[in-house]
Amino acid sequence: MIAPGGTIGILGGGQLGRMMAIAAAQMGYRCIAYTPDKDHVVGDVCHDVFVNRWEDTLAMAAFAQKCGVVTWEFENVPAAALGPVEALLAPHPRALETAQDRLNEKRFVERLGGRAAPFVAVSSRQELMDALERIGTPGILKTCRDGYDGKGQWRIATSRDAEGLSLPDAPCVYEGMVPFEAEFSVILARTATGTKAFWDSTANVHKDGMLHTSTLPAGDAVERHLGEARRLAGEVADALGYVGVLTLEFFATPQGPVFNEMAPRVHNSGHWTIEGAATSQFENHIRAICGLPLGDTRTVSPGVVMTNIVGKDADDAARWLDDPATHLHLYGKAKAREGRKMGHATQLVWDL
Ligand code: ATP
Ligand code: MG
Repeated sequence: MIAPGGTIGILGGGQLGRMMAIAAAQMGYRCIAYTPDKDHVVGDVCHDVFVNRWEDTLAMAAFAQKCGVVTWEFENVPAAALGPVEALLAPHPRALETAQDRLNEKRFVERLGGRAAPFVAVSSRQELMDALERIGTPGILKTCRDGYDGKGQWRIATSRDAEGLSLPDAPCVYEGMVPFEAEFSVILARTATGTKAFWDSTANVHKDGMLHTSTLPAGDAVERHLGEARRLAGEVADALGYVGVLTLEFFATPQGPVFNEMAPRVHNSGHWTIEGAATSQFENHIRAICGLPLGDTRTVSPGVVMTNIVGKDADDAARWLDDPATHLHLYGKAKAREGRKMGHATQLVWDL
């Protein structure tokens, strides 16, 4: 157990790390972060920040020396960079290896009985044409690695779209477009001894490939799939010997839940848990990786709406506070670039 007062290392310098560090500080932990990004947003809330390249093993070793446990908020940390922190990592790095590659991840989840959209590996134009033949259109071409918020994805409506596409110089996967009724995610926390807790699943609406809102209650289209989706997520967590918070994204279809992707970390669709649940995803992640018991995950209000604040919408973010039931979170990002997640607002709905 890492007792309160100990030091937690966080790989990555984004808003997920920032919110993790806030939860950790509340319980008396001290966080230090490691990120190659000078524009990180963890500095305001971490005791120290190492700004070094991932490959800088000396810096990573110095970082490791200061930590009782190391976790990540960013899932694309190169596996080769992890040597010096490996023995301190929670979750186990096998979760990163599995989730960093879309093909790997889909095959892994299918072996456990999950169903993904039809997919084919693509690394050349010929393979793309063959994939279109096999799966048909519409579909989406995605790079296997490094995608987030809809980046590294190309929607293909007709085979003519594919002809005009300049293929990325990286392995990809082509998947059939799933005609879904709704999208949702299952977010769970698992302790080292295998105890699991699930939060309620929100209905997630995306805009331009990026999460826009997460809403509770999620409605019947989502709720009727939760038994099956949770069973699968629990099996994934057990198979990985997972410790911490794990997320699986699903499409809700009349034929059942279709697995989209997993995130071996806290997730944007769980930000509502800060005010909307008895214990937030960030707090339970810290509890799990430190060997403390999990807190109650139940939802505290009849309804919740979390809305992402993106790009220039952050300029007048204070307007969210005109509603006393709404909580504003801003991540401290200096530049409101288009399509950049700047913050979020969580409205607790007391009268449905
Ligand atoms: P993030 O990390 O932010 O979740 P990502 O870049 O990894 O995003 P995906 O989750 O693969 O992206 O896709 C983003 C969104 O695009 C999905 O939530 C969904 O709305 C849509 N989408 C992706 N793949 C499919 C599909 N096969 N069928 C239908 N919609 C899809
Ligand atoms: Mg996604």
